[in-house]
Amino acid sequence: MSTHHRDALETLDREDPLAPFRPRFRLPSGVIYLDGNSLGALPTATPERLRRVIEEEWGEALIRSWNDHDWIGLPITVGDKIGRLLGAHPGEVVAADSTSVNLFKVVAAALELRPDRRIVLSEEGNFPTDLYMLQGLQRLLGDRFTLRTAPRREVVAALDDDTAVLCLSHVSYRTGEILDLATVTAAAREAGAVTVWDLAHSAGVLPLDLPAAGVPLAVGCGYKYLNGGPGAPAFLYAARDLHDRLHQPLSGWLGHARPFAFSAEYAPAPGIARFRCGTPPILSLAALEVGVDLLLEADPGQIRDKSRRLGDLFLALVAERCARWDFTIACPTDSARRGSQICLRHPDGHAIVQALIERGVIGDFRAPDILRFGFAPLYVRYVDIWDAVEHLRQIMETRSWDRPDLAHRGAVT
Ligand SMILES: *Cc1c(COP(=O)(O)O)cnc(C)c1O
Repeated sequence: MSTHHRDALETLDREDPLAPFRPRFRLPSGVIYLDGNSLGALPTATPERLRRVIEEEWGEALIRSWNDHDWIGLPITVGDKIGRLLGAHPGEVVAADSTSVNLFKVVAAALELRPDRRIVLSEEGNFPTDLYMLQGLQRLLGDRFTLRTAPRREVVAALDDDTAVLCLSHVSYRTGEILDLATVTAAAREAGAVTVWDLAHSAGVLPLDLPAAGVPLAVGCGYKYLNGGPGAPAFLYAARDLHDRLHQPLSGWLGHARPFAFSAEYAPAPGIARFRCGTPPILSLAALEVGVDLLLEADPGQIRDKSRRLGDLFLALVAERCARWDFTIACPTDSARRGSQICLRHPDGHAIVQALIERGVIGDFRAPDILRFGFAPLYVRYVDIWDAVEHLRQIMETRSWDRPDLAHRGAVT
């Protein structure tokens, strides 16, 4: 393939087996959206689904909808659908809470599986909320465990016979680097530790088979590649053979075996339902279900293949057109080791990302100096990559990023 002619890329887009999915998202004209790894785009079916839930299920049926529209079962039905993206068996996934809260629940439960061990091990550059939640749990539990971190590459070597839990991101949010699920999980198991994976940047974009990889516990995000909408419920996976031995500390009434018995004593529900806590957010779950249903129509192998090609194309075009400027590549160049994002480093990265956004090319910036471009294969085209890199070239050529107002940082970057 010649990557260098826009015409050739138009042909690739026409022949793309995933092309029929793009019109099923609402994408504003004039925008090249390379941030589906932070907030997935809006499926065109979502507004109508939400209208029905609001006007009919809530407005007309009112409280009867908990039974009549099975609102009460939605965390499990949506969880099972997400489970299909993870290779999970039915009954191994629940859609609930946020990724942060789910991590807290599973790590606390995992610690109880290893009562004699005192280390929770994670990676230095992990997504901050993961580390913050571990710090909060550590504080809550007194000196029950010590949080230890190691560089991502050295984390397996840092396992020892005191490691209770290993807590890692499958795909690094900063560099897009993939760790091998099966190999790392097996190494931890060998060392006697329980692994908790964060799949925020994997679910919906990488083919996954958690049972085959021997993964005991995982959490992940609903608003990134699952296109569930801002603040969508997250998910939690627990291998079914562990369910009876897992006890999570946020023992709210909807994780109870019989919530409507209103008994004073907590008794965990059998199965994954014990990871529920309070009343589920029905509007958000309905929106999430639309996003997940759309992904379930697509072939995961085709998604992965296109994702790799989009990334390779981006890197090839940057090498060809932007070599004169100070970009360094901060992600693996081998697409087999890379999630669906390209990360570049540049000392003026923040202003450059702002200048791109001004032109409608939406990526994001991760402190201190990373420009991050995510590719959601259901709606990003090959020509979008060509155009995005051309905008980048023009911005560098004209130094249009070099303006005082572009130095301003919003509350969200
Ligand atoms: C996006 C992301 C989260 C988000 O956590 P929330 O509690 O849903 O805000 C957590 N972990 C990782 C690795 C992420 O990329």
